Amino acid sequence: FLSIATHQLRGPLAGIRGHLSLIIDGSYGKMPEEVLGVITKIFASSGLLAQTINDFLNVSRIEQGSMQYEMKIFECHTLIADVVEDLIPLAAKAKLELTFVNKSSNSCMINADYAKLRHIFFNLIDNAIKYTEEGWIKVALSDNPKDGTMRIEVSDSGIGISTDEIDNLFQKFVRAQGASKVNVNGTGLGLYVARQMVEAHSGKIWVESEGKGKGSTFVIELPMMKKTGK
Ligand code: ADP
Repeated sequence: FLSIATHQLRGPLAGIRGHLSLIIDGSYGKMPEEVLGVITKIFASSGLLAQTINDFLNVSRIEQGSMQYEMKIFECHTLIADVVEDLIPLAAKAKLELTFVNKSSNSCMINADYAKLRHIFFNLIDNAIKYTEEGWIKVALSDNPKDGTMRIEVSDSGIGISTDEIDNLFQKFVRAQGASKVNVNGTGLGLYVARQMVEAHSGKIWVESEGKGKGSTFVIELPMMKKTGK
């Protein structure tokens, strides 16, 4: 059901978004300022809807075992720096400081699906922005040459997570108490999808938080390729 429904929703929505973006670009002529403002809001909402449908599609692929992974070798630092750069405007809009530090002693080469890792990192940083009302988000990359893993940490000064909720967050449709007050549009699917994707790369993902109001740190550990030096 999820798979069929999702596919049926995607097509018309893509059509709607296509037309909206043409209106915004002025392809159908000049719009009065007020109408353009409304159309821009509809376009933004349709973007959220597209994201939700994408999450559903990912869940249905995971459950049917039909998720495809296209592995290639690349360097993780550039990917993370790129995602951070993309999200800096969103963080700035929310008056949050978003920084990235590379603490790795070697280049972090990985054999992975580039788009899936991008999706995961984007999701974690995007979540950190959504669930932080003020302060900062710090992204750090480090490596552990001894066990051949790299570690990506996304820490925030946000709403935090209570101890009794922390273990369930990676399950489907699970949201912590109070999450919808800060982010109305959540589905509780992002972390479930992220865990499935990380595990498909033989990695681990977990979250640490000292409790409500004390910020959170999401950690991903992934196996690296053989070291090549910086
Ligand atoms: P969504 O954000 O759409 O609800 P996710 O699966 O991405 O779904 O996250 C599940 C839940 O985990 C969120 O609803 C929220 O309760 C909690 N969460 C995720 N990221 C953070 C964060 N950085 N700080 C606090 N809580 C978070």
